[in-house]
Amino acid sequence: MMSKHVPIPTEWQADFLLKQYSLSHRLGYSLSGVVLVFLPIFTILDATLVSYADGELIWKHILFRLPAVILAITFLLLHHKKDPGFWAYPLLLTLNLSIVGMMAAMFVLHYSEQGGRLLYITQGLTLVIITVATATVYGVRDLALIYGLPLTAVIAFIVFSGSPFPDNPIHLTFIPAAIGIGVVIATMLYQEHQRTFIASQQLEHSALTDALTGLPNRRSMQTDLQAEWSRAKREEQYFAVLMADLDRFKAVNDQHGHEVGDEVLTILATRFTNTLRGGDRVARWGGEEFLLLIPSATEESAMAVAEKVRRAVAEPPFATSAGNLAVTLSLGVALHRQTESIDEVISRADKALYRAKQEGRNRAVLAGD
Ligand code: GH3
Ligand code: MG
Ligand code: MG
Repeated sequence: MMSKHVPIPTEWQADFLLKQYSLSHRLGYSLSGVVLVFLPIFTILDATLVSYADGELIWKHILFRLPAVILAITFLLLHHKKDPGFWAYPLLLTLNLSIVGMMAAMFVLHYSEQGGRLLYITQGLTLVIITVATATVYGVRDLALIYGLPLTAVIAFIVFSGSPFPDNPIHLTFIPAAIGIGVVIATMLYQEHQRTFIASQQLEHSALTDALTGLPNRRSMQTDLQAEWSRAKREEQYFAVLMADLDRFKAVNDQHGHEVGDEVLTILATRFTNTLRGGDRVARWGGEEFLLLIPSATEESAMAVAEKVRRAVAEPPFATSAGNLAVTLSLGVALHRQTESIDEVISRADKALYRAKQEGRNRAVLAGD
């Protein structure tokens, strides 16, 4: 609309939806507070300061305010159940709708009168049109319902009732002006929500990703290990930890320079991801050390993965800017045991890796005790 639309990438849409629910929750909570403070005040002022020739009018006003009050109370009650569910969004929309509907109904009620009261109703309508725009989460999409429904009813009434036009129609122009302002506010808020969301997702992603290889970093793997460790306890499924370290990598740096060393690490990362199956994970654990996590493994299956990875690195040679380089990898393989901590299983994998180096490199060694 006003500026470029920022689409949310598909893989983040479920998270964005949750964010929008929780935003609806907070907005609805605040708006309910405003409604419950101001509507009783308006009603008291209305009943005491405005003289009504027709005694029924004040009851009609109260009746029009009732839905918003009931919805606001519902919101506060549900809020305290501490279950930020999907209900918050539809309830927020309905609350907004009831607020505009309340003023629209009063407007229709007083439209045919010639006098000052319509001016005061129009001011109220203008105020709520702008207020509800600040409590939207999907911009114009929300407003289409919140404004569209009550204002179509008002226009239909004006057109079909045949009531004479008010004496001073100037102030009626406040209404389209307020709608315009509301559309601008809601659109800007929505775009801002999207932008903040994308920025926070990108930040989270980069905090968990290794910049050179694009693989998950150590911190990300620690979360995965923790989750797998808890799952293993619950389900009596064993996971395997493979510690992989490039052989004689210092020589690559010394002979060809650090940049070629970086190229090797990047190519290595793609070999890993191309070799591993869906549930398996790999992270850059340290400089030229990588940790592979294999869920639901046995010693045999873990060794088979290690062997597959080792072969995928050893052949074919790595095509770098310094030409084809023969690269090999050593791996230490440890199968998690029920009573073991994460650090303990990693330490056994480390020891097995050390043995693989000792025994001549370019091999996988299974950890003992
Ligand atoms: P070994 O077979 O015993 O593992 O020998 P190695 O030379 O691989 O072992 P060592 O631990 O002595 O050397 C690791 C080298 O990895 C040293 C370090 O400069 C290099 N290295 C670590 N991180 C990076 C990196 O991000 N980029 C590059 N180019 N080199 C790195
Ligand atoms: Mg090393
Ligand atoms: Mg090494």
